[in-house]
Amino acid sequence: MRLRNVPGAREVMVENNYVFTEPIGMKGTWAEVFGNNNPIHIEIGMGKGTFITTLAGLNPDINYVGIEKYSSVLLRAVEKQDELQLPNLRFIRMDAEAITEVFAKDEVDRIYLNFSDPWPKDRHAKRRLTSRQFFARYNEILKKEGRVEFKTDNVDLFDFSLEEVGEAKWNLVDYTRDLHHEPRMNEGNVMTEYEKKFSEAGNAICKLIANR
Ligand code: SAM
Repeated sequence: MRLRNVPGAREVMVENNYVFTEPIGMKGTWAEVFGNNNPIHIEIGMGKGTFITTLAGLNPDINYVGIEKYSSVLLRAVEKQDELQLPNLRFIRMDAEAITEVFAKDEVDRIYLNFSDPWPKDRHAKRRLTSRQFFARYNEILKKEGRVEFKTDNVDLFDFSLEEVGEAKWNLVDYTRDLHHEPRMNEGNVMTEYEKKFSEAGNAICKLIANR
């Protein structure tokens, strides 16, 4: 994602009621944050947040937490949430590498990864959000019956991710290399910003669902 530094974005994050900027140590507190025991679905690398904000509006009985590394990107989602004030939506500004410090064992019911950064160099493979190192982290926070859902238009990253599901000893529940023409998996699909942009450019969208 091309990053434009937005002056004041960091300050907005620190002061906003919907954003956590110091989340380390919050593991086990999310039911308290939301004031209920509803399932928790998270999106890692949410960008400007169209996907998770739409889902939160559609599913009031599910709690959503969007995670994004950069304030300047997260700002758009926060501005939208300031208008909508959805009670079941929060954001965290953090690098997902520390995710096991933020959610307890079995605290998360679903993890969405959408158009994750590809990190094309082999030596950076462990930074990919679908690497075996990240699946090991997801193993620690995701309920047994929970799942990871991953979408991308990047075929190399998708092939890598299919292999990593196996390496991590997770189960591949389903996958497609052309989501928008696969009714079985496309029903109820909510498009992300990148999904809209890349599918309008003619790229096929790949999706996989995995559980542990
Ligand atoms: N998910 C959005 C979409 O599909 O439109 C945005 C995709 S964008 C290519 C990837 C986003 O993930 C960027 O905003 C980036 O800052 C964020 N990101 C990448 N690695 C991350 C990490 N380790 N922790 C948190 N956010 C991350």
